[in-house]
Amino acid sequence: MVPYIVDHIPKTTPYNRRPGYSMTPEYITIHSTGNPTSTARNERAWLTNPNNNVTASWHIVVDEKEAIEAIPLNEVAWHAGDGGNGTGNRKSIGIEICESGDRQKTLQNAAELVAKLLKERGWGVDKLRRHYDWSGKICPRIFHDNGKWTGWKQFKEAVQKELFGGDNMTQDKNQPSDWAKEAWEWAKQQGLLDGTRPKDNLTRQELAVVLKRLAEKK
Ligand SMILES: [Zn+2]
Repeated sequence: MVPYIVDHIPKTTPYNRRPGYSMTPEYITIHSTGNPTSTARNERAWLTNPNNNVTASWHIVVDEKEAIEAIPLNEVAWHAGDGGNGTGNRKSIGIEICESGDRQKTLQNAAELVAKLLKERGWGVDKLRRHYDWSGKICPRIFHDNGKWTGWKQFKEAVQKELFGGDNMTQDKNQPSDWAKEAWEWAKQQGLLDGTRPKDNLTRQELAVVLKRLAEKK
């Protein structure tokens, strides 16, 4: 994970950009900034720039080197374009992905950030929304190409990878991941698995053996 900086805008920020309404989030909404040069710090600075006269805000912005939280995740921000009482605005955490810098790095940082937010809440990728889903705006535009949302699908896959496989690189391959420990021990005790290679892929023939063992237990 890149550094996560908490730098909240004041509640007195003009144009009601931090209304202070409490929020119990149910979704995470993804945006891209629409600006090919602005960094996370630039985006954060814009929220409190005296020349900014729009009622628009977000919770977290991420770029190639850091993530910045501008509004607490239990407060409303105006980012979804679905109105003052819209579900997107009232019940989702708004994440802005910067379009500047190294795109691959930025997307990896965003995937890790989003996976962390999902994990903390016990959520899956089904909780992810595009700005487009709330209001029809072509956003996050970096995931939109020739009328297709191919990049969006790929991003969700990258997040999924972080959720369930992202620890492959940093953890012992011979130890199950924390989320899998209980099930892994159970499968060993039941004699369904032999207890080796917890992070290897399962072949079709191995699955057949496990299914046979399971069927024959009864
Ligand atoms: Zn957007």
